[in-house]
Amino acid sequence: MGTPLSDSSLLAPLLEVCRRPVIVVGSGIFGSVVAERLAADAGRDVIVLEKRSHVGGNSYSETDPETGIEVHRYGSHIFHTKSEKVFAYISRFARLNAYRHKVLTTSSGRVYAMPISLMTINAFFGKNLRPSEVDAFLADSTEKYRAAEPANLEEKAVSLIGEDLYRAFIRGYTAKQWGRDPKELPAEIITRLPVRHNYNTDYFNDPYQGIPLEGYGKLFEKLLDHPKIHTFLNTDYFDVRDVIPDSAEIVWTGMADRLLDYKYGHLEWRSLRFEWERFDVEDRQGTAVMNYADEDVPWTRIHEFKHYHPERPAFTSGKTVLCKEFPAAWKPGDEAYYPINNGRNRKLYEKYADEIARRPGWHLGGRLGAYQYWDMDKAIEKALELYESAFRP
Ligand SMILES: Cc1cc2nc3c(=O)[nH]c(=O)nc-3n(C[C@H](O)[C@H](O)[C@H](O)COP(=O)(O)OP(=O)(O)OC[C@H]3O[C@@H](n4cnc5c(N)ncnc54)[C@H](O)[C@@H]3O)c2cc1C
Repeated sequence: MGTPLSDSSLLAPLLEVCRRPVIVVGSGIFGSVVAERLAADAGRDVIVLEKRSHVGGNSYSETDPETGIEVHRYGSHIFHTKSEKVFAYISRFARLNAYRHKVLTTSSGRVYAMPISLMTINAFFGKNLRPSEVDAFLADSTEKYRAAEPANLEEKAVSLIGEDLYRAFIRGYTAKQWGRDPKELPAEIITRLPVRHNYNTDYFNDPYQGIPLEGYGKLFEKLLDHPKIHTFLNTDYFDVRDVIPDSAEIVWTGMADRLLDYKYGHLEWRSLRFEWERFDVEDRQGTAVMNYADEDVPWTRIHEFKHYHPERPAFTSGKTVLCKEFPAAWKPGDEAYYPINNGRNRKLYEKYADEIARRPGWHLGGRLGAYQYWDMDKAIEKALELYESAFRP
């Protein structure tokens, strides 16, 4: 991409000299992968418009200038996938380190392993159960809740793991995450609550996982580093759309309802707020992510980013940087993090998606455009699919 451009007045002259350019709106993992394929595989000129001051969307990370620690600006991002195709693709732009993700949770002042495993159950109940004894042990506390069809999330969760584990690990976290009492949430939000019958405390089971050794910022730089890709930062599509010809092909990874001026109403989201703090200590919490299960603690997680890079000198620098994550209500204009995938929003989304699909040359994608929660590997897979179906020569 060379040096990203922030002067959007250069866009109109550039459009005049580009031959059949594709405009990619959004430089998150979805937009960046489509842009890379278009330029490197199809030989197309690509113009990437990014409204933020950096590329990479929510997966972005950068080095904190005061501590030298790589920080994930929008919450912890761990790359993990089962897909050999996605792993082979991303490996061309980044080598992953050996980090394997573990999550701990604090409940009533004690620390447990998450997701719920034999480690969690034995520590919580003061038992020494064997793997083969877990089902019978849980059945004792779930049987009485199994008879009736669960009417809400709480009833469903209790029928799966029993009242004690539900109250300790699920209730408070879920209430904070969705801003609602779990009794008011539909049972369909959870189909199962994974309980591991062993002491495996890895958070992900995927064969490929880790953090890019050089950080996500570098990964995105490399994805977009092609003479045919021109990236404009601090450039919102809506501020420059007048100079884009009607005939241009557009890959849209922004919000679907925003594109159509919310004509059918707003799609709803949950948002997040992050609070950052630096400390002059080597290690503040001893792990990358600590969940907080209790409802009276307002944050859901604390991230301590240095643990993602034990291979870097900053790991032993005597300084650390942490970030508290608070779930937040969303209103138009706020950062949209999690779609609220209920019947009303799905129906509304379909209306927007149908109309955008009928616009010649427009392609909808990415987690905002698809109104989906996708991990990065899924977003890469979807981006490769879009490229192969719509653009590959
Ligand atoms: C808190 C949190 C933690 C996560 N952790 C993980 C994890 O550990 N592992 C994992 O695999 N995934 C994780 N994810 C998911 C990951 O963030 C997504 O898979 C990824 O962001 C999807 O990329 P995207 O390109 O679809 O969207 P985004 O990253 O959101 O990129 C969209 C881009 O479009 C830009 N844009 C939008 N509208 C406009 C406009 N009008 N004009 C110009 N630019 C515009 C935005 O500024 C943004 O940069 C997490 C998500 C969250 C919310």
